[in-house]
This record gives sequence, C-alpha cells and structure tokens, in this order.
Amino acid sequence: MFQKDLLNWYEQNARELEFRKKKDSYSIWISEIMAQQTRIEAMLEYYKRFIKELPDMKSLAECDDEKLNKLWQGLGYYSRAKNLKKCAIQCMEQYDGHLPKTKKELVKLPGIGPYTAGAIASIAFDERVSAVDGNVIRVFSRLYDIEQEIDTKTKKQIEQLVDDSLPESKYISHYNQALMELGALICIPKNPRCSNCSIQSDCLAYKKGVQNDLPNLKKKKERRIEHKQFYIYVYDSFIHLKKRDNNGLLAGLYGFDEEYIPCEKEIKLNDYIHIFSHVEWHMKASILVLNQKMEDMYSIAEIDEKMAIPSAFMNFYEQTKERIV
Ligand code: SF4
Repeated sequence: MFQKDLLNWYEQNARELEFRKKKDSYSIWISEIMAQQTRIEAMLEYYKRFIKELPDMKSLAECDDEKLNKLWQGLGYYSRAKNLKKCAIQCMEQYDGHLPKTKKELVKLPGIGPYTAGAIASIAFDERVSAVDGNVIRVFSRLYDIEQEIDTKTKKQIEQLVDDSLPESKYISHYNQALMELGALICIPKNPRCSNCSIQSDCLAYKKGVQNDLPNLKKKKERRIEHKQFYIYVYDSFIHLKKRDNNGLLAGLYGFDEEYIPCEKEIKLNDYIHIFSHVEWHMKASILVLNQKMEDMYSIAEIDEKMAIPSAFMNFYEQTKERIV
C-alpha cells in the first residue's frame, strides 16, 4: 500500500536532474550507464559534456575510440564506454538508430543488464517492468524485513516482490525512479533517514528497529594487492605513452612503460595507490629523461586535449607535468 505515498513523495522531492528533463531513451541510457559505479552528482558534468559532443545514436556509433575514451576520462570502468559504442552500432544496424522499447529486447544489447534494461523501458517507454538495482534491493529488504543474505536466490525473491508491487504503466516511470531516489536520499546504506521517510508506516524493519542491520549483504572478498613499477620516458616536454594490451585491467588504454631502459637521469615520483573493485595497485614510478625523442611521445597539450589517461595513472602524469614543464 506504500506506492501512493512513495509517488507523492517523489513528485515533491525528486532532484532536478538534467537527464530526467525529457523522456528520451538515448539520454536515459547514457545516464544510467554513467551512473553505474559513479555517484549521480559526480557524473552530471560528464553527462552534459557527453551529450553535447555525442547527442544521438549516430554520433556515438561513429565516434572514434580516442574521443570516446577522452569523454569518459575520470569515470573509470572504460568497458562501459566501449559497450556504449558497440550497442550504438548495433542499434544503427538493427533498430534504425533507436533503442528497442522493451526490457526483453534491451537486455540482449551489449552493456545492458536487467536493471538498465528495466530502467530504460520503464522510464522512456512506460513499459510496466521493474528496474532493481542496489538501492531498490536495500529499500525492499528493509520494507519486508528480509533477513536472508542477499545472494542470487534472495535477489530473485526481491525482484518478485518488486514485480508484484508495480503500479499501472502510466505511473511506472515515476514509480521506478521514486524507488531509486528513496534509496539514494532517504533509505541510505548507513543510518537511514526513517523520520523523513514517506513509507515508514509500511516498513517492517523500521517497526522492529532493525533497519540498520539490513540488507544482510555478503561479505566482500578482500582486495588483492599488486605491486607495480612504472617508467615514464620523457624528452624535453614530450611524454611517452604506451597503449596497454587488449586484455586485463585498463585494456587498450594509454599507460606508462613497465620496461626499464637505463638513462642518464632518473627522477623518482611519490608512490601512489589506486583502488579497483577487486585489486589494489601499489605503484612506484620514475621519470627517465632521454636525450633523444622516441616513438609514441606526445606533447602535454596533445595529451590534455585528445588522449585519455586512466585515473590509475593520472597522479603520476600530474607529478610528471609538474617536473618537466
Ligand atoms: S522507514 Fe527507514 S528503513 Fe524503512 S524504508 Fe523508510 S528509510 Fe528505509
């Protein structure tokens, strides 16, 4: 019975977000992909820049990889950008330059999982389907006081509960967004703001006072630590960048060398730790000053304008710039 209260709350409290201003499937898709692993507030500027540069499916399908990676620089998880382009190419070929309108068809496209498919289908096309992400799992596990660990089986049960709760299609877009918004603003992971919650009277966890113990999440595996040493070859104000292999972390992106060539001058940089989801790189790096230019060296202006440096290397890149400019 909480749907009405939730919808009323959403209508009065929804954040004014750029991508919610129009019911455009392309914008909704881009925003949903960007919002995976990234806070909404942190992704907004990226989103605006992306839509300005690549306003439609055709421009995305035809965009060269360097430009796409540059637009994605700072967001991490570059495979998302790669899949966006793959998906755009497929939509140009198969769907006349548009995204298909149903969750069933959307989920078959590259980079679109059940949550994203549900979000696009319901928000852009009013299809009466669920969009269950981490926020919605948290809200429902509290609302129904679900004590079991959140494993595949429990997720399925929650998805069923969400499916059973869906309102008629004219409300579906707002309903799914309201659930996500409640999870993002009120039913937050630690210390949920129950006193401001519009569905408090229906919440079983709140009634029992166990809202802080839920959801019962699986313990995350400890991150593996890898030690890395990088060498940054410079000549004058040119920096050598190397494309990484097409497999593994940061596949196909620019990085620094791991092979050492003895040079006259070596400048050690401050160590840096970069945290990926499952791995930590504990990194050391040195600038090696060459007395002649080698292949694949780029000026700082060129790098800053056109080339994407992954966040893992940005700290060393900035340290290098400070020392050679
Ligand atoms: S009452 Fe508290 S725990 Fe229950 S849904 Fe609202 S914010 Fe979440």
